[in-house]
Amino acid sequence: MTHVLVLGGTAEAREIARLLHDDDGFEVLSSLAGRVANPRLPVGPTRIGGFGGPSGLATFLADGAFDALIDATHPFAATISRSAASAAAAAGLPLLAVVRPEWVPAEDDSWTRVPTVPAAAAELARRPGGRAMLTTGRQDAHEFAALDDWWFLVRVVDAPSGPLPRRHDLLRARGPYTIDSERALLHEHRIDLLVTKNSGGDLVSAKLAAARELGVEVVMVDRPARPAGVPVVATAAQAYAELVARA
Ligand code: NAP
Repeated sequence: MTHVLVLGGTAEAREIARLLHDDDGFEVLSSLAGRVANPRLPVGPTRIGGFGGPSGLATFLADGAFDALIDATHPFAATISRSAASAAAAAGLPLLAVVRPEWVPAEDDSWTRVPTVPAAAAELARRPGGRAMLTTGRQDAHEFAALDDWWFLVRVVDAPSGPLPRRHDLLRARGPYTIDSERALLHEHRIDLLVTKNSGGDLVSAKLAAARELGVEVVMVDRPARPAGVPVVATAAQAYAELVARA
């Protein structure tokens, strides 16, 4: 029996939990950060909340007698990915990261790529102002709070707790979205700029297709660097196959 801890919070993590849960050769525990008030839960046992940094995670792995660690967190969840790399090394456990491929611009796309969310805010500050849709998430919305020349449609799963731009509408929603609904939203709010993180995947990519159709410019926040030396696969099925091969 192989005992696996899956660091989750993504669709890929839920899929890995399902695959492992259905396989008698594995025992799986999923871990969520507890950021979202009403998270989509994976099948099987789940624990919620931080570990207390890399040393806390290493202790958790040793106490639970885990055999392998899967980092299936969001591509922008850089702290927990670093923590996983250092805890797995300290505990001497194999670690595999599941990272969905990045979005790449199509021929008709107009993207400005920026390295961080604050850089995205600086990019908007350089421009004369307009109407932007912000999909960078609750934790980053405050970065745009001082941009008085812009009106924002701020789309989030849970309401942000920090300051928000003076002129905005808050839209509480959770994907997946369709191209038709995204096109209608951009049109209704007369959006001329979309700000998004390069999360990748199909669940929330319809906004990019809709922006392309309507000629809406995109400010795309590139992903943070990944920890060195951690093997990466792109899908839950590949992660499961790796675990089966090693078991
Ligand atoms: P983060 O900055 O990398 O993590 C901050 C802290 O939250 C970590 O140091 C860790 O606390 C705790 N944590 C994060 N993921 C955890 C997990 N799966 N299980 C237990 N503790 C976890 O990440 P974040 O941006 O806050 O994201 C939190 C979660 O939301 C992640 O699981 C991620 O997959 C999901 N998510 C993030 C985004 C995004 O854009 N960042 C988008 C969608 C979903 P300790 O140091 O105390 O262990």
